[in-house]
Amino acid sequence: MKFLSIVWLASISNAFARTSRNASASFDGFKVYRVNTSGRINELNSALKGLSIIELNHNDATVDVAISPEHLEAFDTLNFTTTELSQDLGADIAAEGPLGSYPGLDENGVPSISWFDSYHAYEDHIQYWSDLQASFPNNSELIQVGPSFEGRQIQGIHLWGSSGKDSKPAIFFNGNVHAREWITSKVVEYLLYQIVTGYENDTVIQAVLNNYDFYVLPVVNPDGFVYSQTSNRLWRKNRQTRDNTTAIGTDINRNWSVGFGGDGSSSNPSSETFSGYQPGDAPETAALMAYAQTLAGDKGIKLYIDWHSYAQVILLSYGYSCDTFPPNYDRQVALAGETAARIAQPYNTTFDYGSGCLVLYQSSGNGRDYMTDAAGAEFGWGIELRSTPYGFVLPADQILPSGIEIWEGMKYLWANL
Ligand SMILES: [Zn+2]
Repeated sequence: MKFLSIVWLASISNAFARTSRNASASFDGFKVYRVNTSGRINELNSALKGLSIIELNHNDATVDVAISPEHLEAFDTLNFTTTELSQDLGADIAAEGPLGSYPGLDENGVPSISWFDSYHAYEDHIQYWSDLQASFPNNSELIQVGPSFEGRQIQGIHLWGSSGKDSKPAIFFNGNVHAREWITSKVVEYLLYQIVTGYENDTVIQAVLNNYDFYVLPVVNPDGFVYSQTSNRLWRKNRQTRDNTTAIGTDINRNWSVGFGGDGSSSNPSSETFSGYQPGDAPETAALMAYAQTLAGDKGIKLYIDWHSYAQVILLSYGYSCDTFPPNYDRQVALAGETAARIAQPYNTTFDYGSGCLVLYQSSGNGRDYMTDAAGAEFGWGIELRSTPYGFVLPADQILPSGIEIWEGMKYLWANL
């Protein structure tokens, strides 16, 4: 199924314009519904035409949409089965809590675990990476892979084990490619925190880090991330401007060269899945592709994970095709299934798994397909974190549980690659 229509997106800009309060878009009074499409996606699409709605997520059977207060009545008259996910999206955003202040270091010189009690401003994330790296000086370094459209460096941490730096195959993580998916950078940072604090005494962590070099970029869309914190909580794309359009933003996860321009991406700059006009014409994607090629040409990429929210699913290659599979697909499915089982152990959070095209939706020009086909990754994955029913606006008290369950899955996965 294609990402839903661009007519919706025109409505979205209107909604933002109408509800703008100071610099920040307001979602007060918006309700969120899961709509069962009942195989009538085109009918749904035209029924929603003209309403101020925001599509939040979808799969083959359902679409999650936020509806502006003035169009709730019209929405209620539609002949589709719906489930209410949120009574007031604006209240959810308020309940997400204010951005936390930087917690500083604990008695061991490591950034305090209370970092995971709230969301933080982008500058605090930079401080966090710096402090975490400084607490693990013999086995890590800060890395920069290139500038964003607005000139922020895409950066993160490289970790290595007993054989020294750049000596083992890569595990490469990208977080927050979609700006509004705030939980992703936090969970990636939780994984880093566990490795850094556990390496000295935990033999499982030692074995993993001695086998792989980790290259971790928690926020690969810094411009969009900042914008989602200052102006529009639900911003998805980067902040790139283009000639001959007032529309802003390219979907970095449709701008990779493999499968570029296919179904599940859009050539319309107003679309939430705008691919750009050429592969890699978003500076963030260009930097990530170049960095991936460096890793591929060095010791190779064993595992790539692009971190997203909120479908609770492990996405394997491919997204661009539903009937093409990598040669090692059966092994990938087996590993993903056991990883999902480990993720479920702490809190019974269920994750689906399989080819991204089959278990979520078709998406062309995405990062995991690129890693599989163009960068030789043995496992080119995406993981969509918690959670229904909160969506992108996940309460801060779920940051730590989300990290804990994913850590369980990753420990299994890394030890069994
Ligand atoms: Zn995403």
